[in-house]
Amino acid sequence: MFDAPVGVCRLERYLPDETEQAVARLGEMVGLKELVRPGMRVVIKPNLLMKRRPEETTTTHPEVVRGVIRLLRSLGVEAGDITLADSPGGLYTHAALSGIYTVTGMRAVAEEEGIHLNDDYTSVETACPSPVRCHTFPIIRPVAEADLVISVCKLKTHCMTGLSGGVKNLFGTIPGLTKPDYHWRYPKKEDFCQMLVDLCETVRPAVTFCDAVESMEGDGPSSGSCRKTGMLLASRSPYQLDRALCRVIGREQQEILTLKAAEERGLCAGGDGELPLVGDELAVFADFARPQTMSTDFLSKLPHPLQKIGRPLVNRFLTSRPQIDTARCVGCGKCAESCPAHTIHIENGKARIDHSKCIRCYCCHEMCPIHAIGIRQNRLLRL
Ligand code: SF4
Ligand code: SF4
Repeated sequence: MFDAPVGVCRLERYLPDETEQAVARLGEMVGLKELVRPGMRVVIKPNLLMKRRPEETTTTHPEVVRGVIRLLRSLGVEAGDITLADSPGGLYTHAALSGIYTVTGMRAVAEEEGIHLNDDYTSVETACPSPVRCHTFPIIRPVAEADLVISVCKLKTHCMTGLSGGVKNLFGTIPGLTKPDYHWRYPKKEDFCQMLVDLCETVRPAVTFCDAVESMEGDGPSSGSCRKTGMLLASRSPYQLDRALCRVIGREQQEILTLKAAEERGLCAGGDGELPLVGDELAVFADFARPQTMSTDFLSKLPHPLQKIGRPLVNRFLTSRPQIDTARCVGCGKCAESCPAHTIHIENGKARIDHSKCIRCYCCHEMCPIHAIGIRQNRLLRL
């Protein structure tokens, strides 16, 4: 899959018929027919980060998921053999998922198309075939036991990894509050991104579709703004797909550390390498807004001894940090629940952060349901 092509299909709106046709066209471009056999248990893995309506552009749009279901059905897969599964941020329980399925529009699509919504909250310890950082992962059961996994990600920026696309979408195959443990185990962005590539090699989705009709720019993956990008994309390789997404959002491939790690492992070409695109022309948005977080790439470009000396200084003076807007905060505790460093507590109904222990993973910013956690830029960058 090193040089798998990326299919591109322009689509301006999520009109049901047009979306279904666009997904079907992409299915042909990536040869989905060759991968599917009747009787297979197929899992569709969208991005359902949190309880948000489709127009908020935080989650995969339900019409894209409907298109994928209909494509699978047209290839002979029974509706009863298709399950939609994801482990969003926060708790991985029936109560948490039930609300997310309803608000994101997944429940309506699943009921109308006759497929299952995952209601199993167990996981299966699964070995990574070629580990670099992480040898095994607890993978949510439907994904671990599926014959075929179809990932349907959403194009968004990401405060920590830069890009939320094909590779990052698979972090949602780790159950609930186990996810913050990985931030704690791999606080350095480079290690965390190597872990994500290990995870990607463990899950190995057969095809990754990307909903880039309306994307998220700025402080993604949950506090950014909608940007109309007018495309659906698909590839058999999540790395190739992310290389294409990098171009769409005007980022250098080297800036996205999951792709740097994948390139080092020989899983995809570097930024200058060929990227086979099929279908429509790829739209590029050079002014796609970046997250406010300062990249620690600044530090990783220094020689190792200087990194050691410089990290505390950078953490103190140069790294952006989460900041609670106490006027907005309602004290729900979702940030504290997601904080791998356990450095947030609720006091008098408001969240408080002890910044001395913060590892700048931005999970709290990602999981606050009402955007009450902003990113405070470092002091020098504000000068
Ligand atoms: S900052 Fe957001 S997530 Fe944290 S307690 Fe306040 S409202 Fe809830
Ligand atoms: S306070 Fe926020 S950014 Fe800091 S460690 Fe906790 S979740 Fe991560």
